[in-house]
Amino acid sequence: MNRRAFIFTAVTGLALFTVLQFKSSHNKINIKAAASIKKLEYSDDFWRNALSSNQYAILRKGATEPRYSSKYTEFNEAGSYHCIGCNLELFTSDMKYDSKTGWPSFMDHLRGHLEVYTDFRTILPSMAYSCAQCGGHHGHLIMDGPLPTGQRWCSNGQTLEFRPA
Ligand SMILES: [Zn+2]
Repeated sequence: MNRRAFIFTAVTGLALFTVLQFKSSHNKINIKAAASIKKLEYSDDFWRNALSSNQYAILRKGATEPRYSSKYTEFNEAGSYHCIGCNLELFTSDMKYDSKTGWPSFMDHLRGHLEVYTDFRTILPSMAYSCAQCGGHHGHLIMDGPLPTGQRWCSNGQTLEFRPA
């Protein structure tokens, strides 16, 4: 095989692998809002006034905070993490682990309190998640977390509020 053919095969193989990987993990994940959660519908102006500019950029526009910028990245107190937009509880401290990625990371979430959707803004489509109650974007779900879930709920700390147990 010449060099060009090798590169072509390698790139095609990698692309195919990535797509299949995404499809298989995506098919297994079917996370929807709990029926008991009433969705909040507020205008863009409401959110712009209610949130800080950073919180607005993340929750309403899907931005990502810089790595290691959140006070919750290396933070291990017992308690719960709530959506800064609407107070819905999303994670507990026993779901949190140190992923060494620079963002607060959780291996699970409170079922029905988050919804997973496909984010096409990333280079390759990725799984993102939002608050089931206010629809605010919180982060991305990556399947490289610890067992038994294998999930990493990679969260923006600026959109969470910690409450001690
Ligand atoms: Zn919310």
